[in-house]
Amino acid sequence: MFRYRDEGLANRIIEKLKALNLNLRLMHVCGTHQDTLVRFGLNSMLKEAGIEVRPGPGCPVCVTTPKEIEEAIILARKGKVIATFGDMFRVPGERQSLADAKAEGLDVRVVYSITDCISLAEKTNKDVVFFSIGFETTTPATASVILNHHLNNFSILSAHRLIPPAMEALIRIGEMKIDGFINPGHVSTIIGERPYEFISKRYKIPQVIAGFEPLDVLIGVYMLAMQILNGEAKVENEYKRVVRPEGNEKAQQTMNEVFEPFDMSWRGFPVIPGSGLRLKKKFEEYDARKRYEDELSELCSGYEYKEPEGCRCGEILRGLVYPDECPLFGKICTPRRPVGPCMVSREGSCNIMFRYGKR
Ligand code: SF4
Repeated sequence: MFRYRDEGLANRIIEKLKALNLNLRLMHVCGTHQDTLVRFGLNSMLKEAGIEVRPGPGCPVCVTTPKEIEEAIILARKGKVIATFGDMFRVPGERQSLADAKAEGLDVRVVYSITDCISLAEKTNKDVVFFSIGFETTTPATASVILNHHLNNFSILSAHRLIPPAMEALIRIGEMKIDGFINPGHVSTIIGERPYEFISKRYKIPQVIAGFEPLDVLIGVYMLAMQILNGEAKVENEYKRVVRPEGNEKAQQTMNEVFEPFDMSWRGFPVIPGSGLRLKKKFEEYDARKRYEDELSELCSGYEYKEPEGCRCGEILRGLVYPDECPLFGKICTPRRPVGPCMVSREGSCNIMFRYGKR
C-alpha cells in the first residue's frame, strides 16, 4: 500500500501536470476519492497545477431522498422493525431522522450488514424491513440475500442506485462544464468498464477508473490530462490491480436476476432516468413498497420536500459549491449536530472537509 503513497513520486506527477499548463475541471463520484483528495491535500496540490477536482453525487447516504427516509419512518410507526446502516440512521428526513424516531420509542436498529438484519428477522415474529442503500457495490449482497433467504417477515425498502445514469445526468443538466470523470474504483469492481463507455462516446468526455491511494488518484488525473491533450475520450482503467474490464460477472448476474432499473429521484437532482433499482416482480413479496403499499399510501404522491433552511447539500452533490460555501458549515452544522446528510455521512463532502480540511 505504501508504495502508492510515495511523496516524491506524487510531487513529480504534480510537477509534470504543472508543466502542461492546464486549466481543467474534473469530477469524481465517490466519497472515498473525496476522502483521499482532502486527507492528503491532493485537491490543493492539483489546483496549483490548474486542475480542479469536484465531488459529485458519490455518497449513497447523501443522495437518499427525504421521501425514502419518511417511508422508513412511516413503516416504523406502523409497528415494523426498521434496520439500516449507522450513517443512514442520523440523516434528517422531512420531519425527523430515524435516530429521532428511535428516541421516540420506535423500533429502529443499526446493523452492519444485511445478514445481521436476516439474523434479526430470524429471532423475531415482528416484520423486519431492511432500509437498503448503496450503489452497485452493495447491491449484489442485497440481491444474494433475497435469492437465498426466504423469511416471511423480511422485506427491503430499496434505495439502491446506479452510478452511470447519475454521471450522465450531471452532463445533461449542464450546470457546469466537466472535462473528465474520475470513476469510482469500488463500483467499477462490480460493473467493470463497459457501463461507462456510452458517456465517452455520446458526450466526448474522458474517464479513468481510479483506486483510492494518493498515487492512484494522481495517476488517474494524469491519464485524464493525457486523454484531453490528445483529443481522446475513452474509458481507461488505472485500478487494474483490482478492477477487471468485465467487472465481477457473477455479482452482476445476481444483481440483474433480482433487481431492475427504474426512474428515481436523487437528493439535489430531478428524477434520473433508469438510475434506481427495485425488486423484480417475481420477488415483490420482499419489496416493502409493495407489501406495505396501503400503509405507505399516506405519503401522498405530490410529496415535495425542501432542504433544511440554508443547507446546500443539493448543490454540493451536483458539484456546484464546496462545503465551506455553505453559511452553516462548521458553525451550526457539524458532525455532532448535522443539519444535512453531507455532514452526517463519513463519505459526505461536508463531513470530510470538517474532519480534514477547513473549519
Ligand atoms: S454544511 Fe451542513 S448545512 Fe451546509 S451543506 Fe453541508 S450538510 Fe448542509
